[in-house]
Amino acid sequence: MTIRTALSWMSEWRPHVLVGLVIGVSFAANVLARDSQSPAAQELAIVGARMYPSPDAAPVEDSVVVIEDGRIVRVGTRSNTPVSPGVHLIDARGAVLTAGFWNNHIHLMTPDQLDAATGKAEKLQASLEAMLTRWGFTTVFDIASSTDNALALRRRINSGEIAGPTILTVGDPFFPKDGTPIYVREFFAAHGWPSDEVATPEEAAARAAHQLDRGTDGVKLFAGAIVGGKAGVLPMRLDIAKALVAEAHRRGKPAFAHPSNLAGLNVAIESGVDVLAHTTAMDGGGVPGGWSKELISRLRKHNMALIPTMSLFEVEAHRTGESPDDLAQAIAMITTEVKNYAAAGGQILFGTDVGYTDAFDTTEEYRLMSAALDWRKILDSLTTAPAARFGFATRKGAIAKGMDADLVLLNADPAQDPTAFARVRDTIRGGRVIWGRDLN
Ligand SMILES: [Zn+2]
Repeated sequence: MTIRTALSWMSEWRPHVLVGLVIGVSFAANVLARDSQSPAAQELAIVGARMYPSPDAAPVEDSVVVIEDGRIVRVGTRSNTPVSPGVHLIDARGAVLTAGFWNNHIHLMTPDQLDAATGKAEKLQASLEAMLTRWGFTTVFDIASSTDNALALRRRINSGEIAGPTILTVGDPFFPKDGTPIYVREFFAAHGWPSDEVATPEEAAARAAHQLDRGTDGVKLFAGAIVGGKAGVLPMRLDIAKALVAEAHRRGKPAFAHPSNLAGLNVAIESGVDVLAHTTAMDGGGVPGGWSKELISRLRKHNMALIPTMSLFEVEAHRTGESPDDLAQAIAMITTEVKNYAAAGGQILFGTDVGYTDAFDTTEEYRLMSAALDWRKILDSLTTAPAARFGFATRKGAIAKGMDADLVLLNADPAQDPTAFARVRDTIRGGRVIWGRDLN
């Protein structure tokens, strides 16, 4: 087992009653144009790997990928793909090459990441390595943190000062009035962060517009906020949720949600949210055994994407001392939900909720996902699915001429064992090795 304990700075998290949400529109691919590219890397060729260019493609043995100015310029095999003399070579014989991975549910909120504007570059980079780049993530979606902090970190990465992934962020989330979740209250107080609650559609839309104008990439609403006590879960007013989603969609950006229960899920669906940030192990449409057929077809109809965050359920069970039987039951339920949703054509996006938890090692997530999805579907959730969902299909998610040179070299083949997705040898973003053995 690779589970680690959850961070102590949040308490009372109850992910087994949470559902997160994503958007059903096609997003403009312009979001990263201004700042996604690392400073120009040298010409580079990766030679000799078994390559999986995309989840559907046949493997290419003894492959060659040639990179210039951060883009892939030639792809083929050693026998048909020339490499000019003097090009920097990575000898990748024995390794497996895929497109760079996306983690679509993270929070840039670990203690070492909170002073992104002024903190030491080495410390910030080390925290990104431990949490993200060491696990092959070349693009991440931060779905709730601080707008100021996330944008500051992104600027320092994109300037080349800090080696890190492409950062997409929703910045500050939106809570219902009196609905700051119980597990973040202490954290907000301790760090002197202002309230993220919104009381009216006008107030919500104005803050969303302000954040998006500053360069955030979507919105995150707590359609059902876990407030504890008698209220339990406080749903967001539908008119407020609709105002938030409309503001994001107007700019071609996605809306994510934590529904938490059926009432919150209804708010998410009715308001047009795009991505569910978690699956649920309780209250899955009011059906004790998990999501009903009706709920699945409703989510499908609204083109919702689902981020399973399966290992999070284990992290929380360990933290709260849940019995092994209860945990086994919960895992069986979420496995069935993920499997059924994917089988119904629902889009699955990889995500682990790191930054809220310190379970950075992705091995367990792949092990759990492999009970619901085959390895190609897992690769899709890591690459092509998020690239398509968030409007980057022409730039990211596959290995092809003209695409960004975001790549992962693995020490083992996920076709044999899906946990091989966690056995990362090198993480390459924009043609630059940002973590691994071939760092130079
Ligand atoms: Zn989260």
